[in-house]
Amino acid sequence: MRAAIYRGKEALDVEEVDDPIIADGEVLLEIEACAVCGTDLRTYRHGDQKIKPPRILGHEFCGRVVDSRASETHGLRLGDRVVMYIVLPCGECLYCKRGRQNLCQQRTTMSYHYDGAFAPLMKVPAAAVSNDQLFKVETDIPSSHMGLAEPLGCVINAHGRLNIGLHDTVAVIGAGPIGVMHAAVARLQGAQKVWMLDISSARLEKANAFDLEGTVVVTANGDHLAQIQELTDGLGPSVVIVACSHAQAQADALEMAGKGGRVEFFGGLPKSAPTAVLNTNHLHYKELLVTGSYSEKMSDFQASQSLIQSGRFPADRIITHTLPLDRIEESFPLMESGEALKVCITPN
Ligand SMILES: [Zn+2]
Ligand SMILES: [Zn+2]
Repeated sequence: MRAAIYRGKEALDVEEVDDPIIADGEVLLEIEACAVCGTDLRTYRHGDQKIKPPRILGHEFCGRVVDSRASETHGLRLGDRVVMYIVLPCGECLYCKRGRQNLCQQRTTMSYHYDGAFAPLMKVPAAAVSNDQLFKVETDIPSSHMGLAEPLGCVINAHGRLNIGLHDTVAVIGAGPIGVMHAAVARLQGAQKVWMLDISSARLEKANAFDLEGTVVVTANGDHLAQIQELTDGLGPSVVIVACSHAQAQADALEMAGKGGRVEFFGGLPKSAPTAVLNTNHLHYKELLVTGSYSEKMSDFQASQSLIQSGRFPADRIITHTLPLDRIEESFPLMESGEALKVCITPN
């Protein structure tokens, strides 16, 4: 098969490799769609300590079962379309026992420790098959939409602690695909008003295609903070979600949040500069709850794939570009410029 092999920084070669051969317990998927994640872009540009090349990246996929050596069917037949919960939890540690597989002490992950889906065929590890991590697609929703179940599950994991509801007003900082997903989930949860903020007015123009109250351009002089105050009658939003990797955005989130507000730091900061200067008096005087989130639990993935299958999630507007595998490297500048929200690769 022709697969995209990651060989290190800025080296992603689409080349002929042997087809994967499945062992006992494993399932083989023919990949119909795999979206490019921000972490694929980061790995391509900067490398990732957890990924030892050569490795096939790609973990936001939907595929068809074309072969199986599983001893049980797990409700699946050849030809079924499936999506996969991509974390392989140990099942034994305290976090696994509490249902927080994303925090597992021994976790491994597709496209990090096992080859991923920027290839026509992908093996599903036996542990994932026996743990029922393949979810059958029951509707005729496009495979490209179903690929978003993985990033949307991470968003849903964060929302599990934000408890957004009918009383809330929400600001999302960062109008990339993750920010747009946060805004859409906040709306589905019943938020009264949702605003998006970004330094790029071009990105915000695209975000306006979604169900928002409005957008605010982030400026160096801090005008955006005054604007958000004004839009919320001087109170500040009850929830602020930081969906970008900027220390200043984290500081701004504490600044703009209303009293009793909840603040989520969704993205990590670069490992080379992980420190932010935060005015913690905002936590004190405004009684803020600040949380972060990492990856997703299996229950988040279940909710995510169900929501996308329902057709009530605007997946069609989030996938803005589709490319064949041979042109995968074109996806990176499209993402960096903000021209694309999500790029979907079709390896077959
Ligand atoms: Zn991802
Ligand atoms: Zn564990």
